[in-house]
Amino acid sequence: MSDASEVLCALNAHDWSEPQYESDDSCLIVEFCKRGCGAIIEVEEKHEWNEAQYESDKSCLQTRTCERCKEEEEGEVHEWCDPEYESENSCQLVEICKRCGDVQETGEMHDWSDWEYASEDECVRHCYRCNEDEFQDHEWNNGICECCNTSLDEIES
Ligand SMILES: [Zn+2]
Ligand SMILES: [Zn+2]
Ligand SMILES: [Zn+2]
Ligand SMILES: [Zn+2]
Ligand SMILES: [Zn+2]
Repeated sequence: MSDASEVLCALNAHDWSEPQYESDDSCLIVEFCKRGCGAIIEVEEKHEWNEAQYESDKSCLQTRTCERCKEEEEGEVHEWCDPEYESENSCQLVEICKRCGDVQETGEMHDWSDWEYASEDECVRHCYRCNEDEFQDHEWNNGICECCNTSLDEIES
């Protein structure tokens, strides 16, 4: 190494190589100093995963292996059915996994009636499935509630 490059390397002004794998069985991509001073920087880790395999028929655990460094990674991949009601009188939607039978809640879907007048302040609607009542303030627009169609005059009289 010439004196000039030694000075440059000492100042951290290295002559970096193109990014490349550190070794054949490593997934670390590095750049090293082409002047041979031993300086090296890690750029990124880049695995070459093979196709993930389920561990067993009833399991949703998958493993995949890196072709290069043989590292293994586990993950969970469910096969969810379309959402359905949890039970006849429930408005809770669930999805069931075809493989492992896992259940996840995906939301609620009520079967609401129209809004009706409940009190001076509120209208109410009723769910035909789960019997839940939902209240909300009237939404007055020109003296008429946009939900339950009650007019202010009716309330005041
Ligand atoms: Zn260097
Ligand atoms: Zn790897
Ligand atoms: Zn599953
Ligand atoms: Zn409901
Ligand atoms: Zn109303």
